[in-house]
Amino acid sequence: MECIFCKIYKEKIGIIFENRHFYAQFDRFPVSPGHTQVIPKRHVLSLLDLTDKEWKHLKAALSSVIKIIESTNLKKIYNEFANNPFNEKSEWFCRQMLKHKSISRKPDGYNIGVNEGRAAGRTIDHLHIHIIPRYFKDVDNPTGGIRNVIPEFGNYKR
Ligand SMILES: [Zn+2]
Repeated sequence: MECIFCKIYKEKIGIIFENRHFYAQFDRFPVSPGHTQVIPKRHVLSLLDLTDKEWKHLKAALSSVIKIIESTNLKKIYNEFANNPFNEKSEWFCRQMLKHKSISRKPDGYNIGVNEGRAAGRTIDHLHIHIIPRYFKDVDNPTGGIRNVIPEFGNYKR
């Protein structure tokens, strides 16, 4: 079966940004309003497979994509996605975003990360960097951020 991220780039589906080595798209199963994936055009598995040149382009991509997230009408985007979903689950995620209390606000912060390996939750074997916008009070207590991938140990201040 063809790699989904190679296919999306080839068919130019929903691409919101591209530079020489990376492209970006909104995640169709968003965790928070503006959730975006930054994806190398080259089919590589791991962050550690990137060349120095690609790292440089990744840095530029991250900053450009954040600017795009912050200047996009996300309500309009999720309305379009909800009315034209990948499947029922993707429709549900996009409809949840439409109910999000901060959808019309600029994000207050970001979690940026990679699921490096199956054990870390990777499900698609083509590197993708998640940019997950965060909004004050989107969860009861955000302390520890990505540490919460192991929930009991996330908050080291409790
Ligand atoms: Zn691929």
